[in-house]
Amino acid sequence: MIQMDESKKVLVITPHPDDAESGAGGTIAKWSSQGANIALVVCTNGNKGTSDRNIDSVKIAALRKMEQSAAGEVLGLSKVVFLDYPDQGLEDNEKFRAQLVREIRIHRPDVVLTIDPERKWIRHRDHYVTGRVSLDAVFPYARDYLAYPEMIAEGLEPHKVLDVLLWGSDDPDTFIDIDESFETKMDALYCHESQMSQSRELGSERWRNRFAEYGPKVNSILAEPFKRLRIRG
Ligand SMILES: [Zn+2]
Repeated sequence: MIQMDESKKVLVITPHPDDAESGAGGTIAKWSSQGANIALVVCTNGNKGTSDRNIDSVKIAALRKMEQSAAGEVLGLSKVVFLDYPDQGLEDNEKFRAQLVREIRIHRPDVVLTIDPERKWIRHRDHYVTGRVSLDAVFPYARDYLAYPEMIAEGLEPHKVLDVLLWGSDDPDTFIDIDESFETKMDALYCHESQMSQSRELGSERWRNRFAEYGPKVNSILAEPFKRLRIRG
């Protein structure tokens, strides 16, 4: 089990505003209440996240930034970094990788939380690219002294992340009890009002049912499932 306290740092890397809350919001709220310092990197601005033809992409991006900032406050995050890539516009390239390495070297997390890239067949391309590039950034790019020497000159020393938890995995092996933090997860999720198709009452029931499937694995009612990767130094 991953123990959290005031000495621990976590970096959450999310493709779109709202993915972290839906996949890992209960865990983030729980760790935050245990004193961990948790920062969030939001890779895209979610500017295609509406079917309302009266809202253009600039307006929806601005709205989603506000929603994400509000959710970050509910979760007690120390910082939210917006990379502002267009929705459906992420690529596995040098620029994006360097940005994630930079955030890892700045925040120096014990644990990185991000989305599992390896979902089979149908998956959102931004989810795939975020998960894949996050894992590459963790290992080996953030760790290696000779990767990004220009960052060293700025004082951003290499950093070894030892634990990664992937949400949205087809193959979860780690379950985190969210009985105490489920309502905070819902509070954070429902900050993303533009993305919610159901009332909180109906939505909560659906989410509760989803996480009730995993609770018994850790003797709780509700748990969030993850794939855990332990990285050797
Ligand atoms: Zn997403």
